[in-house]
Amino acid sequence: MKLLKDKIVEEGKVLSKDVLKVDAFLNHQIDPVIIKAIGEEIADRFAEAGITKILTIESSGIAPSMFAGLELGVSVVFARKSKSVTLSGNLLTSKVHSFTKNVTSDISVSKDFLQEGDVVLIIDDFLANGQAVLGLLEIIDQAGATTAGVGIVIEKGFQPGGKLIREKGIRVESLAIIKSLENGTVEFLEGTPT
Ligand code: 5GP
Repeated sequence: MKLLKDKIVEEGKVLSKDVLKVDAFLNHQIDPVIIKAIGEEIADRFAEAGITKILTIESSGIAPSMFAGLELGVSVVFARKSKSVTLSGNLLTSKVHSFTKNVTSDISVSKDFLQEGDVVLIIDDFLANGQAVLGLLEIIDQAGATTAGVGIVIEKGFQPGGKLIREKGIRVESLAIIKSLENGTVEFLEGTPT
């Protein structure tokens, strides 16, 4: 997606050869114009997939998911990372190790909002080692629902997550795939990842 790639080049900051900071439009300050376009692009790619629900993880997956949900006419459920007093019993849970924070969190979703018969589109901001997506897949499995695919804003193609998820036979659509962050420069992968 050209608009997104241009935005990454203009406003992204390469923190190391492994980490890209996009706080200016996605992870801290949110640019509604580009995030709306991102959500709609993901929705378009899964328009024929019979999606009944979008599943994401708090907090950075929520904004693009909202716009995709609006476009597809379905609700958005976000997995919670922290326990809330209002979130008790009746939970689907899994563990996710965070690449950026180096902590493992329990994530949970109420059984009220994800059920057998749901066809689920997972959306997240980044795909790195695939741990967040694996945790969400586990939750969909526990609900007895079906995964239609995964929509990702930025995939780091030099990390193993994309391969791991695609090898499970799951459709992954990433709007920008980064080939390398070496020498402080963002290099994109053009075409389909193998
Ligand atoms: P994974 O679970 O695929 O290893 O990592 C995905 C999660 O880690 C995303 O939800 C995202 O929050 C975070 N993440 C991974 N790599 C990066 C990165 O380079 N930059 C930012 N801002 N977040 C990242």
